[in-house]
Amino acid sequence: MSLSLYFILVIFFLFIALAVTVSKSSPSNDIYSEISTEEWLCPICGFEVQVGDICIYCDTPKGLK
Ligand SMILES: [Zn+2]
Repeated sequence: MSLSLYFILVIFFLFIALAVTVSKSSPSNDIYSEISTEEWLCPICGFEVQVGDICIYCDTPKGLK
């Protein structure tokens, strides 16, 4: 009976360790790095895009030439 209790404790601590590893591997500020705040000029219409990677006027992505 004590062996099964020990087994449950091992599973429990493994679960805690896994939860800590998962929470550490995913940074909390990952959402903010997705949004670009760098200004860039649209090569198609010449509009200066303030926020984002797509021109709001002609839907041109930032990397396009
Ligand atoms: Zn544009």
